[in-house]
Amino acid sequence: MIWYPYAQMKTLDPPIKISSAKGVHLYTEDGRDLIDSVSSWWSVIHGYSHPEINAAIKEQTDKFSHVMLGGLTHEPVERLSAKLEEWLPGDLDYCFFSDSGSVAVEVALKMALQFNTNRGSSRSNILALEHAYHGDTFKAMEVGDDEDYHFAFGNRNEKKKGVFHIPTELSALEKAFSEYGDTLTCFIVEPLLQGAGGMRMYDISFLERARELCDQYDVLLIFDEVATGFGRTGNRFVADLVLPDILVLGKALTGGHIGHAVTVANRKVWEGFLSDDPTHALMHGPTFMGNALACTVALKSIELFEKGDYLSRIKRIEEISRRELAGLSSPEIAEVRIMGGCTCIEVKDSRSLEGFKKFAYDRGVFSRPFLKYMYTMVPYVIEEDELVKIFSVMREWFEKRAD
Ligand SMILES: *Cc1c(COP(=O)(O)O)cnc(C)c1O
Repeated sequence: MIWYPYAQMKTLDPPIKISSAKGVHLYTEDGRDLIDSVSSWWSVIHGYSHPEINAAIKEQTDKFSHVMLGGLTHEPVERLSAKLEEWLPGDLDYCFFSDSGSVAVEVALKMALQFNTNRGSSRSNILALEHAYHGDTFKAMEVGDDEDYHFAFGNRNEKKKGVFHIPTELSALEKAFSEYGDTLTCFIVEPLLQGAGGMRMYDISFLERARELCDQYDVLLIFDEVATGFGRTGNRFVADLVLPDILVLGKALTGGHIGHAVTVANRKVWEGFLSDDPTHALMHGPTFMGNALACTVALKSIELFEKGDYLSRIKRIEEISRRELAGLSSPEIAEVRIMGGCTCIEVKDSRSLEGFKKFAYDRGVFSRPFLKYMYTMVPYVIEEDELVKIFSVMREWFEKRAD
């Protein structure tokens, strides 16, 4: 029996069975062709079954698929690390690989906490955002702020020990730092766009001020760009605009073809672990870190991103999104939000979205709204007519209900 994610297995809607996938299309077992509007949890930026990525996987498989990084190393991981070092902004040069975004967030938090203990500081508090989502492992849930995912902790206030959550408002930011800035190890954020917490968008000025305050109070700034990285906000990385001390990448790192993630530290953090004292080492090591297939895929994915002029494509996707969603209004809609390759229609009551998944399916679109959010995170290779079709189905849903 397969235990499916985020689902009550007693009442689960049978999942749609996919027999092949190509570009932005999912082909079902019973012969349907669905345009994918969510890129398999926002990761499949080049579309499914990309021929160059597939070829790269095959070529590396014939050499070897995996060797561990404990005591061994190999060319794909060396090349990927060198590429990220050159490609990422500033001195974000030190790459710790892992198998998923949640684990990469754990590593980032562990780095920040141990960075402080290594220098003899007793700071232990963490600042995070309201509505944050950083993954489903325990420390990631602790810094997260999403009741709908994280009921495991019971009492909402109990889980907040040592973690403070603030809204994305400058006044709250100033207040937090002036009240307890000198007790903080780090400030972790999903920059500009909070994904699983409801596709919430906020202004860069918040992050610019956060950078200043982190410098002033000697606090590490962590950007969880697992969702926002690789162009989703219209920027290559938000880290290109404001430089964090630690950057977490996942999801689109491998173009959605295989799981992998990386936690990238800057020079200051790296140096905080260099010591003659062996206890100052970072004690972490996922079995499949630096997997050779995943590294090969990530290199190919980055190459495609660069040579395909993806930032222009994403700009075009944003223009079409604005055009197609312009004037959409319904008493059921609370807000329409658009940023880069992401759109979100937030409704006032989650019941307004009940049945939409089936409605879209019947019209050849795969959509997976959650809570009060109907959204798109399309593959960047989508054609204009395909994108228009997704939005026309979304519009039709609200228009039909108004009749
Ligand atoms: C998806 C996500 C994660 C978790 O990544 P997994 O690979 O699912 O563990 C962490 N942070 C953000 C912002 C995410 O969107």
